[in-house]
Amino acid sequence: MRCAQCGRPAAEARTISTHHTSDGWVRYKRCACGSVSIELLTLEDTRPRDLHAARA
Ligand SMILES: [Zn+2]
Repeated sequence: MRCAQCGRPAAEARTISTHHTSDGWVRYKRCACGSVSIELLTLEDTRPRDLHAARA
């Protein structure tokens, strides 16, 4: 996944916040260019390690 504005890899974007929903996890990220993207991680995609990180 890449930034729609500048094309930087999403790995370089800062995670602003993560919310747990019935569908999985919604993650808000802000790219270095200032563009905010929303990422949906379904439960099938989410590994236990990620769940712990989101709660920390
Ligand atoms: Zn960007």
